[in-house]
Amino acid sequence: MPKSNIRTRFAPSPTGFVHIGSLRTALFAFLFARHNSGSLVLRIEDTDQNRFVEGAVENLLKVMAHMGIDFDEGFYLDAQGKVQEKGSHGPYLQSQRLELYKKYALELVKNGSAYYCFCDEQRLEEVRKEQVALKKPPMYDRCCRKMLPQEIETKLAEFKAAGKTPVIRQAIPAEGQTIIHDLVYGDMNYDHRVLDDQVILKSDGFPTYHLAVVVDDHFMEISHVIRGEEWIPSTPKHILLYQAFGWAAPQFAHVPLILNPDKSKLSKRQGDVAVEDFLTKGYLKEALINFVAFLGWNPKTDQEIFSLEELVQQFDLKKINKSAAIFDLTKLEWLNSLYLRNKPHRELVALALPFWEQKGINPQTYSKDYLAAILELDFSRPTILSDLGERTKYFFAQPEYEKELLVWKKSDQKDAKDKLLKLHDFFFGLDDSKYEKTALETELKNFISENHFDNGSVLWPLRVCLTGLPASPGPFEITSTLFLGLGKEEILKRIKRGLDKLE
Ligand code: GLU
Repeated sequence: MPKSNIRTRFAPSPTGFVHIGSLRTALFAFLFARHNSGSLVLRIEDTDQNRFVEGAVENLLKVMAHMGIDFDEGFYLDAQGKVQEKGSHGPYLQSQRLELYKKYALELVKNGSAYYCFCDEQRLEEVRKEQVALKKPPMYDRCCRKMLPQEIETKLAEFKAAGKTPVIRQAIPAEGQTIIHDLVYGDMNYDHRVLDDQVILKSDGFPTYHLAVVVDDHFMEISHVIRGEEWIPSTPKHILLYQAFGWAAPQFAHVPLILNPDKSKLSKRQGDVAVEDFLTKGYLKEALINFVAFLGWNPKTDQEIFSLEELVQQFDLKKINKSAAIFDLTKLEWLNSLYLRNKPHRELVALALPFWEQKGINPQTYSKDYLAAILELDFSRPTILSDLGERTKYFFAQPEYEKELLVWKKSDQKDAKDKLLKLHDFFFGLDDSKYEKTALETELKNFISENHFDNGSVLWPLRVCLTGLPASPGPFEITSTLFLGLGKEEILKRIKRGLDKLE
């Protein structure tokens, strides 16, 4: 499909794992680009070298590819799983664009929109302390902005002789206001007096975020910047930089914060918010995408279940909410169980394999039909796949339990033993053709009524022998499934074990 002129980007810092909030930003940018037949650029913002984590880009691409999010420009994983670059607006790694940032920082110095700052850490600290003491917001006091050209020349020569480089700061206009026309939040006014003369180029030659993001979004021809609400206060500085360069600014769409249900800020701790961890716990990508899409967006209809394709069709920046999104884990669990329930059994078996393996079960040694039948039992369908091993382990090994569990609540040990003996005979004599679930149910019910037994007195100890659990799917389904995978012998063996316990 021909691309429109709409270009957006996802610009993460390579800090390791993929935060759920990062997935949300990437997803919204992806949906916006695809909905409008635009282009999605992946740019890696690695100007803070202290935060760089080896392998982070590769990991990010793996997670995004798994989720179905792909990029038109930036980076991709080749067939060997190696990170490769593509696109005509590169390089897409900021640390490879240092010359460009330097060139444009100097251009701003030349046109008076930026200036050299020679203040050392000690002086800056003193200024900060003074401002804090006066209960003023800590900001640079613009000391170097007042220097005369001759003074600057002298200082530059001094720094050069000492092998030092001064930083460059943005010269925020002393007066006036900047308005952000945000596609989500509407118009927001910022008085220039509250904006700091922030450093844009550091002494090590690296740009700060503000300069790099503006230069890159301009040269990468980004038409729409979609990013988290936390960047709103930086946006007037960016708009001023665009004006200083004489460039048109892109449109901005900030997406709301994500909060915990108690309105506290969503944790940054990996275990709670890493997309990778949700996947290893057994959340399905479909459920995660559906869940994340609703973090700040909704279709304004009753529809709650969306595939990625449906999201692409319906996504609209106008439907992004201004108020914070709530990260409600129970909603994710609900969605996950729903997607699990609707998965075809065969597909579910493939997804379940690693989770059985985690539990020391070797599912490959069982027939696919048996594995599918286990998953078909409604009760075995877990909320998350990592529960699966525990919930279905009795299908792979004899269960462990206390003998007291064998005794039905309206009965006693002697009766349990008696019923198990009769059940052993019953199953021993039952023809293989009668182990199919409905046939088995008829046979077993006849056996119970012919002998004038209570249902519970027979079915309870049977179920416990087979599962070792106080609650499980029904005895007919379980017996017939066990027969399918492990045969009649196993059923008799488990009843025998129950009898041994009652001896
Ligand atoms: N590197 C920034 C981040 O990781 C990107 C902010 C932006 O999109 O402008 O959030």
